[in-house]
Amino acid sequence: MAPAEHLRRSYGLNEAERDELIASQGGVCCICQSAPAVHVDHCHKTGRVRGVLCFNCNSAIGLLRDNPETINRAADYLEGNAWKPTLVAPGVYRLPS
Ligand SMILES: [Zn+2]
Repeated sequence: MAPAEHLRRSYGLNEAERDELIASQGGVCCICQSAPAVHVDHCHKTGRVRGVLCFNCNSAIGLLRDNPETINRAADYLEGNAWKPTLVAPGVYRLPS
């Protein structure tokens, strides 16, 4: 399939619309805001185009299953606020609610 055909069928975009979207992001990925935006990302449930990402960020959100809760926990984890069970007695853990 030609790239233009792939764009239209997968995302309902033509090349000009995609280029406009990339330009509206300043040419860079929405997430890392440094690498070039190359991959049109869409919601697999609704089909809505979310933005244009770089290859790595697109892979990363896919690996985290496009799940905002998981991705938020990953961010908390990186900031040192890991989600951990609390030891309340020897061998007894309480999970945070
Ligand atoms: Zn990126």
